[in-house]
Amino acid sequence: MRRRHDLEVPGPLGRRPRRLRALWRRTLLPASVLVGLLLSRALDLTVALALLILLAPLLAARALIARVRTGRILTRERLVGRFRVPFEQLRFAGEAPGAGLAVLFNILRGDMAIAGPRPLPEAEAQQLEVAAAVRFTVRPGLFSPYRLRRRTGIAHEPEAVVDRDYAYAQSARGDAGLVVRALIGEVLGGGEAPTPPRLEIFGVSIVNTTMPEAVDWIAARAAPGETASRPALVAFVNPDCLNIAYVDADYRRILLAADCVLPDGIGIHLGCRMLGVALVANVNGTDLFPRLCERAAEDGLGLFLLGARPGIAAAAAAAMQARYPRLRIAGVEHGYFDPANEAAVIARINASGAAILLVAFGAPRQEKWLARHRDRLAPPVRLGVGGLFDFYSGRIARAPLWMREIGLEWVWRLLQEPGRMWRRYVIGNPLFLYRVWRQARGGAQR
Ligand code: UDP
Repeated sequence: MRRRHDLEVPGPLGRRPRRLRALWRRTLLPASVLVGLLLSRALDLTVALALLILLAPLLAARALIARVRTGRILTRERLVGRFRVPFEQLRFAGEAPGAGLAVLFNILRGDMAIAGPRPLPEAEAQQLEVAAAVRFTVRPGLFSPYRLRRRTGIAHEPEAVVDRDYAYAQSARGDAGLVVRALIGEVLGGGEAPTPPRLEIFGVSIVNTTMPEAVDWIAARAAPGETASRPALVAFVNPDCLNIAYVDADYRRILLAADCVLPDGIGIHLGCRMLGVALVANVNGTDLFPRLCERAAEDGLGLFLLGARPGIAAAAAAAMQARYPRLRIAGVEHGYFDPANEAAVIARINASGAAILLVAFGAPRQEKWLARHRDRLAPPVRLGVGGLFDFYSGRIARAPLWMREIGLEWVWRLLQEPGRMWRRYVIGNPLFLYRVWRQARGGAQR
């Protein structure tokens, strides 16, 4: 028998009778929401006012330039605001479209906030799906969460989804963080640069594409009708991989022959900027994996997970199976098998009927293994995926989103396994950027 006090969970409200407690909770919740809203607005007003005062000389100069050049000071663009109420976004006449300094007046007036989804033109707002309409419950903002992720190349969800999630989770504290990260993102992101379909770094040709396109490509190559054509090798490269490829001719040759080399991480993003081109997206294996599982479940493609410590691939498989019940895991095998058993492992993979083989031995070991056994393996698509199973099994925690948004996932990895990672990041990152700089300089001289 449990005694009465076993059932009582002591809470912040002490021993208040239950009915009173429920009433208290009902009034407390809306009160906290209201305080949050007021706090957000107060923060916006303070920041906008402070900026207007600080930037007054600049604003006056802008106004004068606009007046002299166009005869007008401001132009107005009709956009859709909170609760779908239209408002006029202000811009100094002659300025390029988009939010400029004059938007500070919109923030003062309450048309806009500092953080929030991008204000939409009428036509775009009408096309939005019903499920995404919750974005209209918050003020549109100068810094949008989607733009921030675009800038650092981690926008893998469509804008409507990012805005919807923002609207559900909006808070004053979250907004303050978003603005800080957005400012860092603006510095990292730099100006607009051309986006060629391929990026050349140290002679390796990297596909400059989006996450959905990469998933489409893999699914198409893995489709049953495709099995007659030659097998596809997919590799992900981060600065560490490219540093290895710089000195390891074998690995470089394999990457050159690979069917699809995808860019992984903020280092590639920075490298591209030094080369004067823009990375479309950070299409790393860790972010691609769940999307690939979802797609494989839809298309009925079986997955074989090979690599990592005993039990890890199986745990990652179980986690994905729980998320996508229709996913078919054709088989799993750890990555520390006896070389004498290699033939048996390959036989198991081939007998499993898997369409996609994921190998996690770390780079370049996994790519070399896949190249060595290219003609003995049956799955039409093979991917080298590094430490991926460690993340999805829960053995190693992934960096929180805010760290990834400002391009600091590598710092997280370094802190987790300093003994193993310091060479890769502390020496490897500057070395990579130095080598890219040399490549950029060489290119300019040619
Ligand atoms: N690994 C393996 N067999 C080996 C050596 C390594 O299965 O002989 C696994 C290891 O357990 C880890 C992965 O390969 O899961 C390498 O992870 P790392 O983070 O080094 O890869 P990265 O993503 O950085 O290439």
